[in-house]
Amino acid sequence: MTTLIESNEHKSLREAVAAFANTHPHTTNAEDNTRLWQAAAKLGYIGVNLPEAYGGGGAGITELSLVLEELGAAGNPLLMMIVSPAICGTVIARFGTEEQKREWLPPLADGTRLMAFGITEPDAGSNSHRITTTARRDAAAGDWILTGRKVFVSGVDIADATLIVGRTEDARTGKLKPCLFIVPRDAPGFGRRAIDMELNAVERQFELTLDDVRLPADALVGDEDAGLLQLFAGLNPERVMTAAFGIGMGRYALSRALEYARERTVWKTPIGAHQAIAHPLAQAHIDLELARLMMQKAAHLYDAGDDVGAGEAANMAKYAAGEACVKAVDQAVHTLGGNGLTREFGLARLITASRVARIAPVSREMILNYVSHQTLGLPKSY
Ligand SMILES: Cc1cc2nc3c(=O)[nH]c(=O)nc-3n(C[C@H](O)[C@H](O)[C@H](O)COP(=O)(O)OP(=O)(O)OC[C@H]3O[C@@H](n4cnc5c(N)ncnc54)[C@H](O)[C@@H]3O)c2cc1C
Repeated sequence: MTTLIESNEHKSLREAVAAFANTHPHTTNAEDNTRLWQAAAKLGYIGVNLPEAYGGGGAGITELSLVLEELGAAGNPLLMMIVSPAICGTVIARFGTEEQKREWLPPLADGTRLMAFGITEPDAGSNSHRITTTARRDAAAGDWILTGRKVFVSGVDIADATLIVGRTEDARTGKLKPCLFIVPRDAPGFGRRAIDMELNAVERQFELTLDDVRLPADALVGDEDAGLLQLFAGLNPERVMTAAFGIGMGRYALSRALEYARERTVWKTPIGAHQAIAHPLAQAHIDLELARLMMQKAAHLYDAGDDVGAGEAANMAKYAAGEACVKAVDQAVHTLGGNGLTREFGLARLITASRVARIAPVSREMILNYVSHQTLGLPKSY
């Protein structure tokens, strides 16, 4: 029997991932995180959205987001799932050449290779139209030469390559015509510097320099002239997956707070009986459930091939999940009183981590701008 919201297959997948995730304690170092990633990949979870013909599960972003949500709800939100299978895997599967698919999709699916994604630039930030990373062709050799800078790119050190968003030299002025390049981690001229983030996460963020990085012609993914459409094919899954990241983390924080509120007694009844504690937790639960509904809508639209409809829903889902995550973590920390700030209970570290869902990959304000302009038809201020 299929319910309106989630099929029996989805429920089974959710249960299986939750059972798997609960047998893996919260990972605090890169080795454990890699082991978890590979174990999840072996079970088919990391590449569940990639085509079967290339070693994936043949399902969609619906299933992939469900996997990330359940891993997060157990305390292990694998940030690189937002990037490697969701953005890079999707873009290569949809627009890559046969050779690129054969080279990248099977290892991305089985967890033996990882790909990062770099679009953000120091002088462009939220305004991706201003990116200046430029690709010029070496006419004689047929190569591409990339020059530019990126910032806040996650996991470049553990990724075998980074999918870099640049623009071609002809398109340097005028409207953004992005093009996507696979840049191997050790390509000459490709420099990285870890940013000292106040984030207690296993995955690190990097500032990148591309100093005349020479790439073969086949490093370009997709059509040089159809870049924006191709880019959004990857960015909509990224938003859905960031929603899953936020919802999973919010659920994790909420469940820790509920355990505590049921037990901790300083008057006659456990603190969870006081409505000042119970109601905000109930609100946090409602907000997370609502965010999940929008995430499911966005994922279903995307998987059904409606890129435009998915765009609006994915933005709204990311917004709702980011806000729900921040609120759930804040209330969870508060529920634990002083213990909310101890390392032992592990909630304080989520205060900064939860903000990631509000800022990246597109900030709360930029989504409100999108909805103001695109959905509500209001004029732009910028
Ligand atoms: C943990 C983490 C991981 C990340 N991983 C990656 C990654 O893997 N790859 C990658 O490419 N990027 C990554 N990013 C970058 C992320 O996508 C950017 O930080 C984000 O897009 C915001 O850009 P910015 O930091 O330059 O902020 P800015 O664009 O400088 O914005 C600063 C503030 O101004 C507001 N603002 C800007 N313009 C407007 C406007 N028109 N109206 C109203 N408010 C506005 C913003 O909402 C924000 O609050 C990551 C960031 C973090 C924190």
